[in-house]
Amino acid sequence: MALEEYRRKRKFSATPEPPAEIEKPPKGAPRFVVQKHHATQLHYDFRLEMGGVLKSWAIPKGPTLDPNEKRLAMMVEDHPLDYIHFEGIIPAGNYGAGTVMVWDTGTWEPLGDRPPAEALEKGDLKFMLHGEKLNGEFALVHMKSRRPGSKGNEWLLLKKKDAHVQPGWDAADFDWSVLSRRSLAQIAADDASTTWESD
Ligand code: MN
Repeated sequence: MALEEYRRKRKFSATPEPPAEIEKPPKGAPRFVVQKHHATQLHYDFRLEMGGVLKSWAIPKGPTLDPNEKRLAMMVEDHPLDYIHFEGIIPAGNYGAGTVMVWDTGTWEPLGDRPPAEALEKGDLKFMLHGEKLNGEFALVHMKSRRPGSKGNEWLLLKKKDAHVQPGWDAADFDWSVLSRRSLAQIAADDASTTWESD
């Protein structure tokens, strides 16, 4: 049920993206991934492992270590855990067609008193990231927008003040894959760009 929308949007004979399978999460700390995705518009997909799927948000400007910036994050459909390893090209004609880079990955831990699923439900999830590019405390806060046309999927990603803050930090300055060290342009130009095998 959780991956129904993911499945409905894709034709798996035509995209190299992983199938819609709910997996038992491996032991150890939950993982996160940020994918730089040059679709119709460039954005960053922020995904947290939770309950056997990846809870996902699309962030037009990308995450930042600058605590003075609020980054709009549109909640999108849950993705399968295997998506953590997906880097390559979604062919033209498919949902999300364009180039995907594994921009950052690592583990995360929930902060605060509530279990993370409950915090998510409440629209206020605080967490710590342990990535290669992103580290420290963050929060995802649901915006109770009542403006016309709002789908209710608007959140903000905030960097909390801690030892990892860096004013002016811009995701665009870090254009390399933590999997392959390639830039987005290099991935896009590589005919062999395809799914990366999971470990
Ligand atoms: Mn995307």
